[in-house]
Amino acid sequence: FYMKNNGRGHYCYYREELNHYFPNEALMEAHLHRAIELNELMIYFQPQVNLETNKIDSFEALIRWENRKFGMVSPAQFIPIAESSGLIISIGEWVLERVCQYQKEWRECGFKPVRVAVNISPKQFKQKSFVKRISALLKEYAIEPKYLELEITESSMTDLHETTSILKRLKEIGVYVSVDDFGTGYSSLSYLKEYPIDIIKIDQSFIVDIEKDQKNKAIVETIILLAQNLGLEVIAEGVEESGQEQFLRENNCQKVQGYLYNRPLPAKQIVEQYFH
Ligand code: C2E
Ligand code: CA
Ligand code: CA
Ligand code: CA
Repeated sequence: FYMKNNGRGHYCYYREELNHYFPNEALMEAHLHRAIELNELMIYFQPQVNLETNKIDSFEALIRWENRKFGMVSPAQFIPIAESSGLIISIGEWVLERVCQYQKEWRECGFKPVRVAVNISPKQFKQKSFVKRISALLKEYAIEPKYLELEITESSMTDLHETTSILKRLKEIGVYVSVDDFGTGYSSLSYLKEYPIDIIKIDQSFIVDIEKDQKNKAIVETIILLAQNLGLEVIAEGVEESGQEQFLRENNCQKVQGYLYNRPLPAKQIVEQYFH
């Protein structure tokens, strides 16, 4: 807080972050409204490495927003705004369709099909039309369901009946479902028993200091074992150092993703580096 003279000899307390934060957020939301039509959104892809084969067998699609006024805005900044304003529905829809278009484009170029994981926000996941939309997109772009993965977080799984019904219908279609940021939500582990889930993504906060922190070591070892015992695939996120990879290898973690291998890359670079 600091004091500000309002020009008539009166002082009032002023909270600096509020002043910067709220107008900016409202302004950002106003710009975000037009991001799709102005063609400001892009999809980047981050490779996921299979530690058993040392090959890349999937990508995660990550949205990017380049705005005239704000420049490159991090999704960590604008996704929460999109969530609270409801814009996430149209943005999420755009991401899904764009990913399907890329899949079709790559197939038509003769590239070997690859699974792409798409982040799904809770609002999008709970939309009545969500499952139908997924099957319509797969049909429209002639994509085999096994090449689409949906990343949901524990915050999508608030209602047992609703979640079970959505996940069962997705299972029938045949797409993969992963739990993103595993272990950071407030859900009880019993959902792993109830829900047809395919993949656990170990949150990067457990990986970051895994070489030093005994507790994180124990947590990660245990998540990997849990996944194995439940017959789920497991992937560690945010792998930046070879020591972290070594630990994950020794503990039989199947897949890894992180700056150690690649940053998220634009489609053009993905094509040059991985499909040629
Ligand atoms: P997330 O889904 O947990 O994605 C992983 C984030 O970690 C990405 O940040 C990725 O670029 C970053 N990352 C990857 N490897 C490393 C590493 O080795 N070290 C570190 N420190 N970070 C790494 P990004 O792309 O900025 O996305 C942030 C979050 O925004 C995502 O977290 C996700 O929650 C959300 N997001 C991104 N794209 C979408 C989208 O299309 N739809 C929705 N609903 N959310 C999205
Ligand atoms: Ca994710
Ligand atoms: Ca994550
Ligand atoms: Ca995250």
